[in-house]
Amino acid sequence: MIRKKRTVSERRLDLQVYAIFFITITVLMGSALFFFYLHTDAMMRTTESETTLSSAFLASDISSADVTTLEGMLSERFSQVLDETGKDIDIWVTDEAGNTVFASGELPRAEVDTALASMEEGTDLYLAWTGRRNLFQLNQELFLLRRLPDSGHSIMMLNHCGTAHATQRQQFALFAGIEIVLMSMMLVLLTNTISAYRRQLIRLATTDELTGLSNRKSFQQDYAKFVSEESVRPFSLFLADIDFFKHVNDTYGHAIGDKALQTMGEKLLEMRERCGGFVGRWGGDEFIGVLPLGSKKAYEALSELCKAVREAKCAEGANITISVGLAESDDEVSLARLTEKADQALYISKESGRNRATAYDPSMVYESADVKSGQSGDEARAAFTSKGETVLEKTVSIPDLTIGERMRIFIREKLFVSILHGVKWMAPFVAGGGLLIGLAFLFDAVSVNLAELTVAERANLGSITPQAAIFKTIGSATFNFMLPVFAGFMAYSLAGEQAFMAGFVGGYMTIGSQSGFIGAMIAGLCAGLLAGQTKQFTSRMPKLFQKAAPILIYPIFNLLLMYAVSNFLITPVSAAVGTFFKMLLDKALAAGDLYIGILSGSMMAMDMGGIINKVAYNYAVAGLADGQTRVMASVMVGGMVPPIGIALSILMFGRKYHAEERERFAGTLFMGLSFITEGALPFVFTDFIRVIPACTLGSAIAGMLSEVFGCALPAPHGGIFVLPVMEHPLLYLLAITVGASVTAFTLGMLKRPARTR
Ligand code: GH3
Ligand code: MG
Repeated sequence: MIRKKRTVSERRLDLQVYAIFFITITVLMGSALFFFYLHTDAMMRTTESETTLSSAFLASDISSADVTTLEGMLSERFSQVLDETGKDIDIWVTDEAGNTVFASGELPRAEVDTALASMEEGTDLYLAWTGRRNLFQLNQELFLLRRLPDSGHSIMMLNHCGTAHATQRQQFALFAGIEIVLMSMMLVLLTNTISAYRRQLIRLATTDELTGLSNRKSFQQDYAKFVSEESVRPFSLFLADIDFFKHVNDTYGHAIGDKALQTMGEKLLEMRERCGGFVGRWGGDEFIGVLPLGSKKAYEALSELCKAVREAKCAEGANITISVGLAESDDEVSLARLTEKADQALYISKESGRNRATAYDPSMVYESADVKSGQSGDEARAAFTSKGETVLEKTVSIPDLTIGERMRIFIREKLFVSILHGVKWMAPFVAGGGLLIGLAFLFDAVSVNLAELTVAERANLGSITPQAAIFKTIGSATFNFMLPVFAGFMAYSLAGEQAFMAGFVGGYMTIGSQSGFIGAMIAGLCAGLLAGQTKQFTSRMPKLFQKAAPILIYPIFNLLLMYAVSNFLITPVSAAVGTFFKMLLDKALAAGDLYIGILSGSMMAMDMGGIINKVAYNYAVAGLADGQTRVMASVMVGGMVPPIGIALSILMFGRKYHAEERERFAGTLFMGLSFITEGALPFVFTDFIRVIPACTLGSAIAGMLSEVFGCALPAPHGGIFVLPVMEHPLLYLLAITVGASVTAFTLGMLKRPARTR
């Protein structure tokens, strides 16, 4: 795809946006880190100690305690609660007067006295922290003191929390790592944009926008530098002017006139390549240049230029000719003097019939056209006109197209373009949402021990710890916009602004019908077509209605139509497809392991998050409740293979992907590893005829291997993050690798090399 050059104001805007992003990310993440750091202590106290320990104490009846049993019991409780081994715990029991009755270590007398003194009447539990307490200074100690209600005795425990905070430290490190990566990325982006902005400013100041040549000012600078270096003598300066350019503009329009100027620029650059020197646009249709040649050689080169320009076809077959005047340098090299001479020679070229070069000769005198060339300006203009009109006569007649041809043109020129447009806007939602959800899994995976959780608790992976839950919430919200955004912008591309709302709402409705990318495409297409019709319809109405159309007619008409499409077409078809596949799954389960592995795996890739994918997934989740964990393994591998396979094929067959597709490599791989099948969607939309079969094949094979290897997964999400609870994790990795490789190779075979879009 040819990237449109960003204009200077767009770049300035980029710069502002990146700067704002950078500052926001720095401030937000920085303060988040700061508070995280500060409140780690408080978090731990709240989440682990206060709540749980209080209830642990209160739940135990220790009023008539035998101290030996008490020691064992409390150590056990303490170690459970703090997830410690208990090796660092000391316990004391003191009587009413504070004398030691039992001690498992040396009693920290001072602390006990202070603690007892500050205990209020009837208080059960007292917590005190000493030492420094933050993430990196770990010599803190946790005291627990309880005054027993009936005996007046007190129990005190001391826990040296040397190894506590491991979870917080891991999360903090992860969080800080992400911040560093994000900030570095933003910094790179910012510096790149600043330098691109600077380059562009310089280019703008020195270049003629239309032709890309040096502008007048920059040419003057080049010239001053050139003569000051005294490198080449003699040299020739020339002026070239397009003949009858006003007439070109008048006959063909300014756009063709501009095209002619660009052609002229190209030919000048070609000449510079051959002969050296430098060129520029002097103004209007006049160009200037220096050739490091004497006037004879320069004359030949410039005559060649006249020929090249004459033979170059500008748009619509219009030919242009140029007249050139050149002057050789002598002792006098001032630009003003040389241009004056070249201008006199140019005048002669014009007057002697144009379309030629003339070298300055001191004997030159200005004479009238009629005398010099025998052809008046008007005659010459008339000759040109008749030539121009002959060219124009070859007007293109538009033949009648068959319906098939019209369809093909529509698909190629409109539909495909609209899909690309939709994907362009959708892709950030897929990448952003996928990344956040993946990170939520990662957070939880490093924070909790999955093996100790029940299946129901594992279903909450990504929302177990508060930090992960934040990421999961934002990620899921972002993900929900994916299909509406796609359908909205697809419709926008098909029929303009007023189709956007219909497409967006239609795309939103596909979430309810679970019809996935196919539903979103149908919604976008229908919205585009219907809104196009409504627009035509309203354009025939009186002016008053037309003005009210965006707020009255479009919402009611278009949205009702979209509702009809969703309700009477997409939803029922999607439901029927779902029922059919559910039946297939039942049959496959009855037929044997191999069949259910292949079917459930492949279904995950057939519509990537659509109804077929959801039926397979829900089937596996329902199975988990009955202890059927093998289907879940096949389903997860089937969902992981498409994005991983696509990422692998980008790696292996890079030239089959467009630059912006290759840029999605890392994100797609990460989503695949996190079991976020939707990561493949941007690739599916633009080439589903090849991508879906290749992914389905890879997923089917991976699903089958997972079954054959006896892999079983008692968790419904998480991708590679739940490998620790997987049965045969290494074989599972093998199944993923084989499936992804099959997808990658199939894609490599099926896809054609990426062409410029
Ligand atoms: P002659 O052969 O005597 O040079 O006739 P001419 O019609 O070319 O006359 P002249 O060189 O004076 O005309 C210059 C015209 O070039 C006038 C203006 O409309 C046109 N022009 C100047 N800049 C641009 C431009 O950027 N784009 C287009 N399309 N036209 C331009
Ligand atoms: Mg001209």
